[in-house]
Amino acid sequence: MISQVAAGVYSYLPLGWRVLKKIENIIRDEMDKAGGQELGMPVLQPLELWQETGRDQAFGKGLFTLSDRRERTLVLGPTHEEVLTQMVSHHVQSYRDLPKLLYQIQTKFRDEPRPRGGLIRVREFTMKDLYSFDVDEAGLEESYQKMLRAYRNIYDRCGLPALLVEADSGAIGGKDSHEFMLVAENGEDEVIYCDKCKYAANVDKAESVKSKVAPEESLLLEEVATPGVMTIEQVSNFLKVPQDHTLKAVFYVADGKLIFAMIRGDLEVNETKLKNILHCFELRMATEADVKEAGIIAGSASPMGLKGVKIVVDESVTPRINFVAGGNKPDTHIKNVNYPRDFKADIVADIARAKAGEGCPKCGGKLSATNGIEVGHVFKLGTFLSEALGALFIDEKGTSHPIVMGCYGIGLGRLLAAAIEHYHDDKGIVWPLPIAPYHVYLCPLYREDTKVSEVAENLYAKLEAEGLEVLFDDREESPGVKFNDADLLGIPIRVTISPRTLEKDSVEVKWRSEKESRLVPLEGAVTRLKEFIKKDK
Ligand SMILES: [Zn+2]
Repeated sequence: MISQVAAGVYSYLPLGWRVLKKIENIIRDEMDKAGGQELGMPVLQPLELWQETGRDQAFGKGLFTLSDRRERTLVLGPTHEEVLTQMVSHHVQSYRDLPKLLYQIQTKFRDEPRPRGGLIRVREFTMKDLYSFDVDEAGLEESYQKMLRAYRNIYDRCGLPALLVEADSGAIGGKDSHEFMLVAENGEDEVIYCDKCKYAANVDKAESVKSKVAPEESLLLEEVATPGVMTIEQVSNFLKVPQDHTLKAVFYVADGKLIFAMIRGDLEVNETKLKNILHCFELRMATEADVKEAGIIAGSASPMGLKGVKIVVDESVTPRINFVAGGNKPDTHIKNVNYPRDFKADIVADIARAKAGEGCPKCGGKLSATNGIEVGHVFKLGTFLSEALGALFIDEKGTSHPIVMGCYGIGLGRLLAAAIEHYHDDKGIVWPLPIAPYHVYLCPLYREDTKVSEVAENLYAKLEAEGLEVLFDDREESPGVKFNDADLLGIPIRVTISPRTLEKDSVEVKWRSEKESRLVPLEGAVTRLKEFIKKDK
């Protein structure tokens, strides 16, 4: 299918390329049906365009840049909002010119910190990106729904059961966004969902109703010796208090500044929520050295009397509860720590990660979790890009407004890889017919038998003439080798011709997705195969 050239950079081999082209054709067809118009934009983009919208900072090191001979910096496009919005600003003047749905299928570049998972996380990839331009929010909503329908059609036609989930906008920006997820055991994304009301969200975005702790009478602070006690579990065991009565301190560095995040001991910090609240470009876990430099004792960190560090407190910490917190000296903790009596927060917000078993934020039902692969991402951008780049239109009364935008992406290679993750068994790939590299795997056995090779050549020519796509295994290999390769490649229908099937004037037909094979009379075999494929298409 593919061959690696460098980390996160791949060549497509002939079979992989055929799959990619089929996916591309399905996507193009659905975009056109939804009213999209295809165009072509350059990979090379001036850095100044990115500076105008500030997204050079949001993409940070993910942006590939290079210098030309005049020492001007150019960007290898990771996405095309800037280029297209500027173009639209030159050509759209009136409300009569809108709405517009413009798209391309093109190569993108993103300098991923950790390229991995074959085609799942790569640095160069092909993407379909459509952009919508509307006069108002209602228009955007209409375009957005149109795209959601088109995306559903794409996954249906590829034979992939993708789920629609709420998502975080990340570096793209904007307010609302959704992802399509394909459930896969080793998918790198986690989806939180409710069976009762169909609420579903990427864990980065997911909300949940956490277990409640009843407010208590505030008690006096009390220092206790806790030799060797570091983790929440150890604190809870040593002092015999439940984990939801402990305070967890987690340190981050946001754009170079140390952040002290406080959360109830039984919960975890959601880094995406934290990043959004801090409005920072880069967020990472603090190192031991970062924490030490601020005069804080890791494992016994206390928010009390802390200076020069931004404190972000999760909502779970604000009820009146006598928490156990670090003492900010070795082997010491403090009991009965209360907010806001004993420590202040710079920001109070929901920064907790949702998890299975917690309550659904919509209906109160119980949440579940599963792993998935993101195979599509759509965004309501609003007007921040059109304002930055001056993409305005004049309404009926002659007043000027920024154009309301949306953007809609599908990575083609990622869809290919996700399809394999979803459809395989221990023998190999099991392609859904619409995106399989070929329809038929034609497999003559014992080709030294002239009748076998004659019938095979003849059948090959007839199937091709009828428009069926046939991979002809004309190698001099044993039946075992051929069958194993057929299973590995996962072409939907295997047609075997051997002296034994010819004794019955038949060929053997086997679906890759089924265990049993069947004999089909040679006479009329082409028509039968055509029918099979039509039915499944
Ligand atoms: Zn629910």
